[in-house]
Amino acid sequence: MVKKVAIIGAGPGGLTLAHYLLRREHKYQIDIYEHRSDPRNIPLNQTRTFPMSLGDRGLKTLWQIPGLEAEVKAISLETTGSILHQKNGKQRRLDRKKVFVSIDRNHLTLAILKNLVKQYDQSRLNIYFDCQCQNINIANKTIKITQNLSEQPTEFTRNYDLLIGADGARSVVREAFSQTQDFQVQTNYVPSAYKSLYLPNPAEILDIKLEPGKVHAWRLNSGISVLLVHQIDKTMNGVILFPYQNNPIAELKTAAQVQQFFQENFPEVSKILPQSAAEEFAQRPISRVLTVRCNRYHIEDSVLLIGDAAHAVSPSIGQGCNSTLEDVRIFNEILDKNADDLKKSLPEYSSLRVADGHAVKDLSDYSFPTDKKLFAEFIIRNSVAKFLHPLFPKKFPPSILDAVFDDDISYSKILLQNQDWISKVKNKNHSL
Ligand SMILES: Cc1cc2nc3c(=O)[nH]c(=O)nc-3n(C[C@H](O)[C@H](O)[C@H](O)COP(=O)(O)OP(=O)(O)OC[C@H]3O[C@@H](n4cnc5c(N)ncnc54)[C@H](O)[C@@H]3O)c2cc1C
Repeated sequence: MVKKVAIIGAGPGGLTLAHYLLRREHKYQIDIYEHRSDPRNIPLNQTRTFPMSLGDRGLKTLWQIPGLEAEVKAISLETTGSILHQKNGKQRRLDRKKVFVSIDRNHLTLAILKNLVKQYDQSRLNIYFDCQCQNINIANKTIKITQNLSEQPTEFTRNYDLLIGADGARSVVREAFSQTQDFQVQTNYVPSAYKSLYLPNPAEILDIKLEPGKVHAWRLNSGISVLLVHQIDKTMNGVILFPYQNNPIAELKTAAQVQQFFQENFPEVSKILPQSAAEEFAQRPISRVLTVRCNRYHIEDSVLLIGDAAHAVSPSIGQGCNSTLEDVRIFNEILDKNADDLKKSLPEYSSLRVADGHAVKDLSDYSFPTDKKLFAEFIIRNSVAKFLHPLFPKKFPPSILDAVFDDDISYSKILLQNQDWISKVKNKNHSL
């Protein structure tokens, strides 16, 4: 019998999972509910987006969707590592073993969505935008949705056979897990908040040479850092990350104040920050990142959490979306193995994925130290691993940054290989 699936959230996770389920020989009929508006009809929102790095872990999932590789490559850039810019003008390179793809989060989501609606019609797939899931009745297998298309919101209830929580770090689906026994969840804000930055093509501005195909990073001792990546149209997008408590960014209310702040702290960046970009920056709200760690990703044979809803992480090592897309591929493999038996597949997904979810959170929280001396040690360890791993692969594991972008080593194994370092950073960060 065809199973009725309700997916909450049309982000990268929810849309990609819809692709994979619809390819499974007409076994699933899918409704997706997304509380934002249809991105095909409105200009892409610059407030809630940022460039993301996708490595093999995420790309391998996307490339299995017919046509998507070419569509994503047309709107993204290949990147081969990072350049850390120091205040004295010197640069430190962190090259990566493998090329990764840099793409804006909302552009990626739009590409996956367009490909999905091109392949499947309404007999198998319906996507409801401006529709927010309010709550879930686990016992009755129903969801309550509010549709915000007019000033007078309307409410309706739908039933499901399988409910997917792909609704991000503040998941309503995950909240419903508290109706079940022995569910534990821990949510924490990362100490850093962020604002997106949209800058013009630096090559059009005299005297600025920022090598294409790299993530450019500037970092102050106070913990404030700027990350910028070239975009396909040669502009540069990125984020400024800063401690949420006592942060100076909240005080920047005008374009002049923004420009002065960048001139004093990030002089190279200030050269490519025109008045218009500074004005928009001053207006943009500050965003925070919530992390999630829970002990189970399923309820019996009828509810499943994927992506940020299950294991949202700090963006420090660029693994949130990579791990989300990996979730989809692994769930698909489990369905293959169990011939779509959900009673077997959902618990199996939890038992395989929870350990990796915890590991990717620890790796994201503690790979990069905040302490200056430890940061220097991190750079040295990274270089040593790069040199020794290819010569003695059994004795010396790859660097954390290379390993996380590879798809043939699990997050749990990477954590195990680097437990001494992760514990050292954790202890130091907590003692500061
Ligand atoms: C600054 C920053 C930089 C990042 N950089 C990287 C990177 O370099 N590499 C990487 O791999 N990852 C990165 N990430 C993480 C990445 O963005 C997320 O891990 C990824 O978007 C998770 O996808 P998702 O589909 O699980 O959730 P989301 O992208 O959060 O999508 C969830 C969707 O659900 C919708 N929704 C929420 N609640 C409801 C509801 N009640 N009803 C209906 N719809 C709802 C939301 O509107 C949203 O569209 C970064 C994150 C940040 C903040």
